[in-house]
Amino acid sequence: MTFLPAVPLNAVNESQQHAERLKALWKLVTQRDLCEEDRFRSILRLAGQALNMDLAALGEFSSCYTVRYVHDSLNLLPEGTVLSIHDTLCQHVFDSREPLFVSDLRQHPLFQTHQLVTQVGLNVYAGIPVWAGEDVQAVLAFMRRTPVEGGFDEADIAYMELVAGWLGYHLSQAQQRELLEKYAMTDPLTSMLNRRAAEHRLNEELARAKRHGDGFALALLDLDYFKAVNDRYGHAVGDEVLQVVAARILAGLREDDWVARWGGEEFLVFLRNADVREAVFVMERLVAAVKSMPIPTSAGEIRMTLSAGIGLPAKEDASFLHAVETADSCLYQAKANGRDRVEACGGARVLWPAQRIKQALREEQLCIANQIIVDLETGRAVADEALARIRLPDGNYLAASEFIEAAEGLGLMAQIDRAVSQQAMQRCALRLSGGETAQEFSHFINLSPQFLARRDLVEEMLANAMSFCQTCGVTFGPVKPIVFEITERQYLRNLDTLEADLKPLLDFGFRLALDDFGSGYSSFLYLARLPISFLKIEGWLIRNIRKERKVAAIVESLATFGRREGIVTVAEHIEDADTARILVEMGVNLGQGWHFGRPEIDEMR
Ligand code: GH3
Ligand code: MG
Ligand code: MG
Repeated sequence: MTFLPAVPLNAVNESQQHAERLKALWKLVTQRDLCEEDRFRSILRLAGQALNMDLAALGEFSSCYTVRYVHDSLNLLPEGTVLSIHDTLCQHVFDSREPLFVSDLRQHPLFQTHQLVTQVGLNVYAGIPVWAGEDVQAVLAFMRRTPVEGGFDEADIAYMELVAGWLGYHLSQAQQRELLEKYAMTDPLTSMLNRRAAEHRLNEELARAKRHGDGFALALLDLDYFKAVNDRYGHAVGDEVLQVVAARILAGLREDDWVARWGGEEFLVFLRNADVREAVFVMERLVAAVKSMPIPTSAGEIRMTLSAGIGLPAKEDASFLHAVETADSCLYQAKANGRDRVEACGGARVLWPAQRIKQALREEQLCIANQIIVDLETGRAVADEALARIRLPDGNYLAASEFIEAAEGLGLMAQIDRAVSQQAMQRCALRLSGGETAQEFSHFINLSPQFLARRDLVEEMLANAMSFCQTCGVTFGPVKPIVFEITERQYLRNLDTLEADLKPLLDFGFRLALDDFGSGYSSFLYLARLPISFLKIEGWLIRNIRKERKVAAIVESLATFGRREGIVTVAEHIEDADTARILVEMGVNLGQGWHFGRPEIDEMR
C-alpha cells in the first residue's frame, strides 16, 4: 500500500515558507544601510539557512579560485581561501555557465573521488553561475553532508537561482563603483593619481607620519617652456611628451615614493622619510632623466627640461600645506634662476650635488689628488693613481666617494673623467719635461664607461696625449706611461662593445688595468677576454688577508695567475708593514695604500 503524504497541507506550508524566505531575501537585497561586504555575507547566511545547507559560498574565478564570501558552519573554506581551479567542484559550473545540482555526490562519476566527498563527507552540491554584467565571474555554491532525498525541489532551485541573480547584480554594482572611483582618482593621460586623489593621499600620509614619527619631503616638478611644445607641434604631441615625462618620473622614484599629476604639466612627488638632501638627490636624478634623452614623439624627438622645488613640512603643522607652499615657491625660484634646476627650501643657499659638480667642472675646481703605487719588493714608487677631488670655497676638498655616485646617476662621469685625465696627462708631461728621467713611472687614470663610449672625448684625449708627448720631448716606444683603470662594476654592457671602446686607447699605447678585482662584481670573463696589463686586487681582500685564511689563498692565487699570464698585480688599501710583507711573500708585484702614502693634491698646477 502506498502512503500518501498530506499533500495539500504540506504544499500550503511549503509555499508559505517559500514566500517567507523570498521576503527575507528581498529585504536584504534592498536594505539601504548595509555595506557591500555585510550584504554579501548576510545573503549567503540567509540562503544557507533557508535551504538547510552546511555551506554557502560565493567564489570568484580568475587565474585561480578565491572564496570571496562564505557562510560556512563546517569551517571548510574560510574567506580568502585560494584554490587551483581544478581542485574545485565549481569548475564545471564556471566552464559550462550552467547550474549544476547533485543530490548525491557519492554516486556522481566526476565527484565521487573528490576529497570534499571522501574526506569531509559532503553529499550535496548545488552550483549556480553568477553573472555580473555580460560575464560569469563567480559561482554560488551550496554544500551539505546529508543527502537530499528525492532530488532537488524546484522551488529550492528557483530560490537558489534568484539568490545568484541578486549576488550578480550586487557584484556588478560594486565593480562599477570601484571603476568609477578609480576613474575619479586617476589622471587618464598619465595614469597617475590626479590632484584630488593626491590630496586625499597626502592627508593619509600626514596621519601616518604623525603616528610613526616619520619625516617626508614634497617636490613639485614642472616642465620648462612646455607651452612652446603645444604651440609648435600641437596639443596631441604635447600630450605625448607628458606621457613620456610621466613614465620617466615614475621609473626614477625610490620604492616608497609616489607621484601625482598636480596640474597641467606639473607633478607632485611624495618622498617618504627623505630629508632635504635626499630629496634634492632624487629630484636631480629625475631632472637628469628627462634632460639626458630627447623625448620621442610622432613629430620627432623633442628635448625637454624640468624644474623642481622641494618643500618640507613645518614642525607643528597639522596639514601638508606648508610643504606644498614651500615646494611651490622653490619651484618659482628654480624658474626664476634659469630653469632646468632643483631648488630646495632652507634659508642659506646650499649647493647640491649636481649643481656643485657642474659648477666645479665649469669653474675648474675639479682637481686631482695622486696616490703613489710602489714596487712591493724594492719599495720604490713606480706609479701613481689620479683621484678626482672638488675644491671647496673654504679651501677643503670633497673626496671622490662623496660625489662620484651622484655624478654617475646624473650622467656627469664623462665630464669628470675628461677633466681628470687631462690633468693627469699634463702632470705626466710636466714631470718628464722637468728632467725627471723615470720613464718607467706610470700614471693610472680611472675611466668610466660613459667616457669610453664617447668617441669624441676619447679622440680628444688621444690628441692631447700626442701633443703632450711632443712638448715633453721624450720619445716613447709603443708603450706610453698612462694606464687606464676600468671597473667592471660599471660594465653591464656586452664585452664586444667594451672591447671596441678600449681599442683606440690600447692602440695608442695606453695600458689597461682591471680595478676592484674581487669586489663582488668580478667576472673572470673580463680577465680571460681583455688585454689586461694590471690587475688591481680589491681593498677588502687586502685588509682581511691576515684575518682570513681563505682570503690569503685567493690573493695568493691571483698573484700566481698574474705571474703566469704576464699581468702585474697591484694590491690596494695596504695599511701596515705586515700586510705589505705578506704580499711580497705571496708574489704580488705592486702596492698602494696609506702605508705608502695618502692621496696628495696635485700642487703642480
Ligand atoms: P615654464 O617654463 O614657466 O613652466 O613655462 P611653460 O610654458 O611650461 O608654462 P605655462 O604654465 O606657461 O604653460 C603650460 C602649458 O601647459 C599651458 C597649457 O595649455 C599646457 N597644458 C596643460 N595641460 C595640458 C595637457 O594635458 N596637455 C597638453 N598638451 N598641454 C597641457
Ligand atoms: Mg611649465
Ligand atoms: Mg606650469
